[in-house]
Amino acid sequence: MTIQKKSNTVLVTGGLGLLGNGIKLALERYPSIGMEDYDFVYVNRKDGDLLNKQDCENIFEKYKPTHVIHLAAQVGGLYSNMNDMIGYFRNNLFMNDNVVQCCHKHTVKTAIFCLSTCVYPVSLKLPYTEGMIHDGAPDKSNEGYAHGKRMLECLVRYYREAYNYDWSCIVPTNLYGMNDNYNIHHAHVLPAIIHKFYTAKETNGDATLFGTGTALRQFLYNVDAGRIILKMLKQSNKLPNGEKIGNMILCDDIAKEYTIRQLSDMVGKDMQFDQSHVTWDKTKSDGVHQKTASNDKLRGFIGNDFKYIDMEAGLKETINWFTANYNSVRK
Ligand code: NDP
Repeated sequence: MTIQKKSNTVLVTGGLGLLGNGIKLALERYPSIGMEDYDFVYVNRKDGDLLNKQDCENIFEKYKPTHVIHLAAQVGGLYSNMNDMIGYFRNNLFMNDNVVQCCHKHTVKTAIFCLSTCVYPVSLKLPYTEGMIHDGAPDKSNEGYAHGKRMLECLVRYYREAYNYDWSCIVPTNLYGMNDNYNIHHAHVLPAIIHKFYTAKETNGDATLFGTGTALRQFLYNVDAGRIILKMLKQSNKLPNGEKIGNMILCDDIAKEYTIRQLSDMVGKDMQFDQSHVTWDKTKSDGVHQKTASNDKLRGFIGNDFKYIDMEAGLKETINWFTANYNSVRK
């Protein structure tokens, strides 16, 4: 039997992580997006180290992608960032440069690169919008990561302008979902809370959460992020009016912002873990108090009919998955 190769090959770097999994799930759950003519190749470190130019080149040579979604990065929570400023800066900077060079060398016309709302300056008037990324210094707590990602924004913009590529940067808020990194020392806040509650329940102990719990965060389910990315790819990174998207924040509506304490309540309720067993270590940093991002531009792209997955439903699915797969999850 001859297997017909599809006309588009999408290379997803960091494809076996949280957001890569969101893309996979979105493809399965939302066939109406219409990606039948796209083959997806998900690569991770087993396929090559993107910090190594030759490995990166070999991956592009092997798959000859027509499209690229570059998700691979050194990623982690607040405390992991604070403890490895150099790693977060250099690894992201050089990995991103290698991938961008390969996209250019292989004339990949449509590509999506990944920033984060962590790149924003601290002293901005909220909400963040796409044009504010470089309007001041990033927060000290994740300065290395932020600069590594900001340089990616510059590179992508310069290439887009110089070569007329349809290259975009997405700027996601906190992501969550199945396949996250649940390592207590490196995880983002939500997977860290889930893992801490799980362990405390197993040992009949208490869970210590860091900070005062008053910081506010927005969350986006990885499947929703995946849906948006697929739609961007399908529309060749163009807005409905035909303009290039450029940079776009990926987040839920502004009203959906939660304190870390609310998060602890929600997770506790789902896991039947009582808040009386939660201690708050207030000697630990809260990070940036609030970093509300606007999804006005995103709404203009996905439309007002786009329904985000409810945080309650997303959390339930995530926690069920984590509990069922505890032995094999990243932790
Ligand atoms: P994960 O940690 O879940 O996945 C990261 C992926 O990158 C893994 O597949 C990992 O490979 C790969 N990777 C890391 N270093 C290298 C390397 N040197 N060479 C090859 N591959 C490498 O991250 P997420 O899915 O959470 O993040 C995806 C993107 O989204 C990142 O760019 C991140 O900065 C951004 N982002 C994430 C947010 C979040 O809350 N998680 C929020 C905002 C932005 P392996 O599987 O082998 O470990």
